[in-house]
Formats: sequence, C-alpha cells, structure tokens
Amino acid sequence: MAITGGCRCGAVQLEIARDDLPPVYACHCHICQRASGSAFSLQALVPEETLSVTGPIVVHEITTEDRTSTQRFCVTCHSRLYNTNTRRPGIAVVRAGTLDRSEELDCCAHIYTNYRQRWVPLPAEVPQWGEGAPMADFVAALMR
Ligand SMILES: [Zn+2]
Ligand SMILES: [Zn+2]
Repeated sequence: MAITGGCRCGAVQLEIARDDLPPVYACHCHICQRASGSAFSLQALVPEETLSVTGPIVVHEITTEDRTSTQRFCVTCHSRLYNTNTRRPGIAVVRAGTLDRSEELDCCAHIYTNYRQRWVPLPAEVPQWGEGAPMADFVAALMR
C-alpha cells in the first residue's frame, strides 16, 4: 500500500511509501500564510526516499542566510507540492492538502502560533509553540 496524492489539475501524482496517512503539523508563520494564501500551511515530514513523484514539476529555490529551500510545483496548475531544505537533508515537506483522504489527516502540532489568525481555534491537547519548536519536542509530537 502507499499513500497517494497529487496536484489540482492531476498532471502530477505523489506517492508516499507507507501504509497509513502521515502525521501532519500546521505552521501559522507569516511566510506560510503568504506562500499558501491561507491561514496556515499543513505539512507532513517524510523521508525523501519514500516519496515518488510523477509528472511535470517546476522548481523554485529560495536561499536565505544559511539554507536553501527547494520548492516544487506542478508546471501546469502551479499547485504547491513539497519542498526540501538544505538544513534537513533527506526530509521532504509535503503539502498535506495534496494528499488523497486529506479529510482523515490528524494535525499533531501547531508552530508559530503567535501569528495565528485569531479565528482559528487550537485544541488545548495538541502540542503548540508560539515560535518554532525545539526539534526533539517537535519530532516527539509528530510521532505520538
Ligand atoms: Zn497540476
Ligand atoms: Zn511557516
């Protein structure tokens, strides 16, 4: 079995080699709000070697200080699909809304909640951080 997904127009298909939907987190930072045009981004971290992509993608690299983020989009419909980052080699950050059965996803953590749009309520039992999360705590939240 694999987890499947794809872009809005269907030209690009994603497949993640795992049986169950991956845990996802919401990032409420201003960069994610701008990049998504929405209240937050919803993302899954998966080992890059477990992700296979078919179809035409376009790559956009964003370099800041000490890292380069490589963003992948569908050539045709420009849906955001996933990115990698030189600070976390081997990890793909998949835009969770591209996954099939996205209505079954479980949001396990919220980060950068200081920038959360105030109409978005957060469940008290879900781990959340006002800014970025310490990596060990963040991974623990996603692995619960
Ligand atoms: Zn597309
Ligand atoms: Zn963000």
